[in-house]
Amino acid sequence: MIIATFYEASTCVTLCTSLVGVYENIRQKVFDPISQYKCRSCKSKRLKIVNDETTEDGIAKKLFLQCEECEEITEIVFEENDTSKSQYIKGIEQE
Ligand SMILES: [Zn+2]
Repeated sequence: MIIATFYEASTCVTLCTSLVGVYENIRQKVFDPISQYKCRSCKSKRLKIVNDETTEDGIAKKLFLQCEECEEITEIVFEENDTSKSQYIKGIEQE
C-alpha cells in the first residue's frame, strides 16, 4: 500500500515539524529570556519552570516559575502582539 505509506510518512513529517516548532517556540520565549524574571515575593532570580500552559497549536501561553528561595510561584503570561504576530511576544508578570 504505497498510498498508505506515503500518508503515514507525511503525517510523521508534519508531527515532527510541529514538534520542532513547539520546541523552538518555547525555547525562544523561555530559556533565553527567563533571566529577566524574578520572584515576585523575594525578588530572587533563582527560578525554575514548574508548569506551563500551551494553546491548541502548541504556542506557549503561560509559564509557572517557582522560586528556589521561598517557593513562591510566579506566573508569566505571554501576550500576543496583534500587529506583528510572529515577531515578538512579550511575557507579562501577573500580579
Ligand atoms: Zn522567592
